[in-house]
Amino acid sequence: MKLIGPFKQVVTLANLPLRGKLSDEQLEIIVDGGIVVDQNIIQKVGNFEILKAENPSIEIEPIEGEQIVLPAFVDSHTHICFGGNRPNDFAMRNAGKTYLEIAESGGGIWSSVQHTRNASEEELLKTLVERINFLIDLGITTIEVKSGYGLDVENELKMLRIIKKAQNETKATLVPTCLSAHLKPRDFEGSNPEYLEYIITEILPKVKEEELANRVDIFIEKSAFQPEESKEFLLKAKELGFEITVHADQFTPGSSRIAVEVGAKSADHLEATIDEDIQFLAESDTVATALPGASLGLGEKFTPARKLLDAGAIVAIASDWNPGSAPMGNLITQASILATFQKLTTAEVLAGMTFRAAYALNLEDRGQLETGKKADFVTFKINNFQNILYNQGSLKAEKVYIDGNLI
Ligand SMILES: [Zn+2]
Repeated sequence: MKLIGPFKQVVTLANLPLRGKLSDEQLEIIVDGGIVVDQNIIQKVGNFEILKAENPSIEIEPIEGEQIVLPAFVDSHTHICFGGNRPNDFAMRNAGKTYLEIAESGGGIWSSVQHTRNASEEELLKTLVERINFLIDLGITTIEVKSGYGLDVENELKMLRIIKKAQNETKATLVPTCLSAHLKPRDFEGSNPEYLEYIITEILPKVKEEELANRVDIFIEKSAFQPEESKEFLLKAKELGFEITVHADQFTPGSSRIAVEVGAKSADHLEATIDEDIQFLAESDTVATALPGASLGLGEKFTPARKLLDAGAIVAIASDWNPGSAPMGNLITQASILATFQKLTTAEVLAGMTFRAAYALNLEDRGQLETGKKADFVTFKINNFQNILYNQGSLKAEKVYIDGNLI
């Protein structure tokens, strides 16, 4: 057992509602606070001097200078296991080329599939761990990672096995998700429903058998999978025991409704969600995940996070880090920019990157600094928490703790 502190501010994010809007006045801020950690769990949070007086013999891990602490961040949507990169897609898109023109010139998701299939396991593992470390440096200690650049049995399993291996090389928590339904691969001979059936019968049973993932994702969009075939697929995946998440309403509306109908843990993107479906999401337990990195990468509008929060939805914010539409990877920058365009409070943004994002991953043991929660937290060398978003990602995390240990 040890006492870490004193911190100028402990921003606990505790005692806040899971859904709906938040004002900054609702944030619990403990001035001159400390955190008592036992093993990997937070035992108590409170005033540093009082905690010390309560247990005079407790080991103290001192914090030098003025620092604030808050729960470590959760990135609940990434595609960071991939080979190659796609700067030419970015340049072509900005030069006015269409999705089809980019695909025809060898870009698009299919290009990442080829690079990932051709990459060695060592190379994929190395770059994946580098990206994980980049995220840890930002204060992110729980990271969802999708497959989806393999798109056949051999290569989807290769990706998921690499993600599993990466878990042995990092203290961060990785949450693998099977996204074999990212796109029907060009070399699959058959229709969309046939490819989805191939995932159900050939890929998912092996994923289950090797315990590679317990979440399944699908990209429902005109250019990928259509609503009805997707719904059928998701219900089958659910029957196999998988949790569901959906790439929904990125360019065209309608699929967030399917996410809610199948009881998905989250519906992610939602840039094109219509008002009626915002209400539908708000009345559900499906987390609405904004992915501002994709809006910034593509020059598209942002997820209507303000409307979603006002309607009472559970709103998370994730990076969508991927080589095509969201290459930046800096969730803090992206969330800060989303806040300026969507007029989100600091409390709403911080909640969206901590306990609300954790809920989307079914990890309710983290994302708040309170008794019984996992001792993952991040400090910044400032005296007021508002500086984090104000600096839009240019303020670096000072210290990152996982399970109570400094990383
Ligand atoms: Zn994505």
